[in-house]
Amino acid sequence: MCAILVNKGVKLSRLSFFNSILASRLYPLVFQILSGAMFALVLLYAFLGPPLGEDNFAVVVTWRLWWLLLPLSFFLFGRLWCGVCPVGAVSDLAQKAPAPKRRIAGDFLKKGGPWIMGSLFLGLFWIGMVRHICCWPRETAVVLLLMVGGAVTMSLAYHGRVWCRYLCPLGMFSGIYSMTGIVGLRPAKEVCRNDCRIDKRQVLQAEMKVCPLFELPTTLETNRNCNLCGNCVKSCQYGAMRLTLLHPGRELAQVKRPLTGEVFFALTLVAIAFVEAIQTTRLFPSYMQWALEKNILTSYDLVFSLSLLAVVALTMGSYLLATHLYTRLSDGGKPLNPASFAYSFLPLALAAYAGVSAFRLASHGARAIQVAINQLTFSLAPFDLPPPVRGSFYQVDLPVKALQLAILALGTLGALYVVARVAKRGGDMGALSRALPHGALVLLFSATFLYLFLLPAGVILH
Ligand code: SF4
Ligand code: SF4
Repeated sequence: MCAILVNKGVKLSRLSFFNSILASRLYPLVFQILSGAMFALVLLYAFLGPPLGEDNFAVVVTWRLWWLLLPLSFFLFGRLWCGVCPVGAVSDLAQKAPAPKRRIAGDFLKKGGPWIMGSLFLGLFWIGMVRHICCWPRETAVVLLLMVGGAVTMSLAYHGRVWCRYLCPLGMFSGIYSMTGIVGLRPAKEVCRNDCRIDKRQVLQAEMKVCPLFELPTTLETNRNCNLCGNCVKSCQYGAMRLTLLHPGRELAQVKRPLTGEVFFALTLVAIAFVEAIQTTRLFPSYMQWALEKNILTSYDLVFSLSLLAVVALTMGSYLLATHLYTRLSDGGKPLNPASFAYSFLPLALAAYAGVSAFRLASHGARAIQVAINQLTFSLAPFDLPPPVRGSFYQVDLPVKALQLAILALGTLGALYVVARVAKRGGDMGALSRALPHGALVLLFSATFLYLFLLPAGVILH
């Protein structure tokens, strides 16, 4: 199935079966219909189902299954989720609706997009934690409907998926983690150069219309803004756009112009992974109890919010320190833009997030599936449900711990690999040694995650 082609001296496999799916007229429509049907069920059960989240289809499907499986999908399939996302599909539908005058996204959105998406994601994470949105069906529905509202509004006001490219809180989350992925769509440049008989200006004009995320497919070098919608695959009669196996992490090391908003977001994702990991241990309730008993602050939400900010600030601060040391070590040498190193932390953050997800799935994934099936089959309800999980201790077997540690080890190696490759772009003999502060920071973060993963399992909070 996998034919081999040589691209820039690197052997890459071409995934012909998946390429034929991308080229099919039924793709992504069939998947969008399926995810749309699931989305409709989620909304239905959110408003009409049981009030307690862990017994409600909407909550278990959204937060106990989909949200926990998402990190794996970024690694395996890049940003495929955005190609089949029901909100994105609604956005495409709204594009077809008549609207007075659609505009083209301006500089504000283009420059501010990463900041807006990063801030919205952090805000969503924060509000999700303090309002425990993932416990409550209606709150879950409100968040989803707000996203639909945002996508429709932007589709009526602008051409293309402006919501997905510049505003959606999940857009940059999906995009930046997809850069760690093992597959991506790339142009076979030799086909464009040698076989394509179409005038290049016409190709450019067609490309600008074809990509809903405003990429130029024939120059595509990143997964970040490609949702694998397949439009460009279908529109190229020479078959130049191909789904390709990628070296994981290499794309992260090749970011030539790091965006400050993305750098901020990449480090925020490390901080969020820390908070997620801490929450699965007994350290979290002990810390909150200590802070409240000491009367340092009297509100749980305030303690949590300030602690979250402190973790973000600590993560940023340690990165800035490593960057400062790198710049000092580069005195007289050829320093790169040190912001390039921020992308190195993404494999580690994704691994930590996936480790926490594996832990949660092992603890309450089976019950979540049973709840979902019971609710869909109404009175048949084939499963005798175990008692509610909220408030009980996580059940963690040795194989799950081993899996977590293996994922963390892979993420750490991936992060060190990216640090080394970024450093090598410096070109001279001392390039690797100058990157020691960033390498050491990867190890420090990894050791902290390891410590958290080895702590006794805590209480399931949501
Ligand atoms: S960017 Fe957001 S709305 Fe758009 S497809 Fe991705 S998750 Fe869905
Ligand atoms: S490059 Fe654009 S058109 Fe092509 S698959 Fe990706 S998002 Fe779709």
